[in-house]
Amino acid sequence: MNGNRAFPSSTVRHEARQTVEWTFATFCRNVSGTNQVSTPDKNTASGAAQTTNFLRNIIDADLAADKFVGRGWAGQPGEGSLHDAGSADPARIRTRFPPEPNGYLHVGHAKSICLNFGLARDYAGVCHMRFDDTNPEKEDTEYVNSIIDAIQWMGFSWDANNTTHLYYASNYFDHMFHAAELLIERGLAYVDQQTAEEMRANRGTLTEAGKESPWRNRTVEENLRLFHEMRDGKHAEGTLVLRAKVDMASPNINMRDPAIYRIRFAEHHNTGNKWCVYPMYTFAHPIEDALERITHSICTLEFEDQRPFYDWLLAQLRDAGMFSDPLPHQYEFARLNLTYVITSKRKLMQLVTEKHVDGWDDPRMPTIVGLRRRGYTPTAIQLFCERIGVSKGDTWIDYAILENALRDDRDDKAERAMAVLNPVKLKLTNWAEIFPNGEQADRCLAPRHPHHEEMGTREFNLTPEVWIEREDFQEVPEKGYRRLYPGNLVRLKYGFIIKCSGCEKDAEGNITAVLAEILPDSKSGTPGSDAIKVKGVVSWVSVPEGIPAEIRLYDRLFMNPQPDAGGRNFLESINPNAKKIVQTWVEPTLGNVAAGVSFQFERHGYFVTDLKDHAAGRLVFNRTTTLKDSWGK
Ligand code: ATP
Ligand code: MG
Repeated sequence: MNGNRAFPSSTVRHEARQTVEWTFATFCRNVSGTNQVSTPDKNTASGAAQTTNFLRNIIDADLAADKFVGRGWAGQPGEGSLHDAGSADPARIRTRFPPEPNGYLHVGHAKSICLNFGLARDYAGVCHMRFDDTNPEKEDTEYVNSIIDAIQWMGFSWDANNTTHLYYASNYFDHMFHAAELLIERGLAYVDQQTAEEMRANRGTLTEAGKESPWRNRTVEENLRLFHEMRDGKHAEGTLVLRAKVDMASPNINMRDPAIYRIRFAEHHNTGNKWCVYPMYTFAHPIEDALERITHSICTLEFEDQRPFYDWLLAQLRDAGMFSDPLPHQYEFARLNLTYVITSKRKLMQLVTEKHVDGWDDPRMPTIVGLRRRGYTPTAIQLFCERIGVSKGDTWIDYAILENALRDDRDDKAERAMAVLNPVKLKLTNWAEIFPNGEQADRCLAPRHPHHEEMGTREFNLTPEVWIEREDFQEVPEKGYRRLYPGNLVRLKYGFIIKCSGCEKDAEGNITAVLAEILPDSKSGTPGSDAIKVKGVVSWVSVPEGIPAEIRLYDRLFMNPQPDAGGRNFLESINPNAKKIVQTWVEPTLGNVAAGVSFQFERHGYFVTDLKDHAAGRLVFNRTTTLKDSWGK
């Protein structure tokens, strides 16, 4: 495929985006300070507005300056000479998403995914899917597969220009070892044998320079010999480490001769026992980016202090002939902090292993698999990521912004249905007078979507007994109550107007049934049916026709908006009511629904059939979110 073909349309899209004035995004970007929370703005809650962000400005400037023109791409990762001998890169920019396969992806990763894949899409570039699997201990193919699934489910692909850009950093170990040798040969790295304690003590502080290691000035030959011995398994873990020789007096501690290779006798999920030396992240990551000819290497702010070493290393390796210009550049953005949510793989792992939740895909979990099972859609997640924008300010994003994105996606698309969450029986006591021929069912028609006639209608029957919500009856109505109380008129949705006549109770005084009479000629959709105006509408499910269903009412997993901020013990604020299960009834049209289909249950919110437990004959719905933000109210 010719990369230029995508160029004109992307330019048009991009210009259009720049004219979008979107106050909500600006609002979010302008809120700064660690503990401030960006809250949703009701006026701007809909539409997939594209937010601009500072990274787009950087890319625009790079492209305007022709920074990447003429740069080669070998069709696969490799060193500079290989790329330079390749043809012109069909991708205008290259980004990458580089997860460590040591856990499931969460909503924070979703932000990074939308950002990296989104920029590549919008600028006719390519985003590489790269497993940053240089750490042998914690990584697993289970996680590799789950990460691939999650990103594909979100709607992104790494296939472009007839190439599958799926890479594993562990396939670059030979290059990394070679890069370390190049540094040694140029007097830019040495094997240190100080103890970890000595190294720590000699590193210095923010106000004090570090002390040079006594091993800093070994000869090149000795360093090479020792480094090869490290690789050959001749030294024990922790006895030797390879360090870059930069500047022990640098004000940036990351430049004080950082460790770049260490000994680990660990089996690696990809390379097995081939290696017993492994590169450190700070050394490996820039090399991975350069081998893949990444143009914009985007990471979270905690890596800002490592950028000088990133640049130093790549410049040295370019001068040594391993890489060629233009070298990749690192840019940092603020990680996502979402209120009522934890976005640390380690803490999420703890929730799973200590069984505070039912696994990684528990619908209360902020993992992508959890969000999916909860009923979040790729569109809603992408919308959320667009709305929160990208900045360098460390803010907390209000959970309601995520919920609103789901509502705004589903409102227009989800079919409607009726379900009763807390049922009580309603008896229509004059049924026989209204239907003197003995009919026991009266057909009702309802739209699948109130604004989309083309989606069709649903049909079900009104019957002499129906389930209604317990909260839709009050024996003694409170002020302003509009639903059923003795003497009041309401409409049974899609059915008749009824007049409440009282209730039945058991020996303890609990209400066992509500009683009402049908008003003749008031059937919804028949001539004259709206002659009488009523203020209340009540949803219902037929007693004989309703289908039993398990409904899982999920809510926020934590009660504290910043569950783990400031070293707080997040386990203490777990919401015990984040999962409530009710066994109840839904309308009969839902009998054959597949798993993973979402609905709006009228009045109650958005629900989805559970991906794991829902089956023919056993309906299981998960509540994704209520219709309105009712948290804490
Ligand atoms: P954790 O701290 O949860 O273990 P991580 O940063 O170690 O996360 P990686 O697998 O290394 O996880 O992350 C892959 C990419 O996702 C990185 O580029 C990282 O910066 C980004 N990322 C991780 N968490 C967030 C977040 N909360 N917001 C935005 N981006 C994130
Ligand atoms: Mg990490």
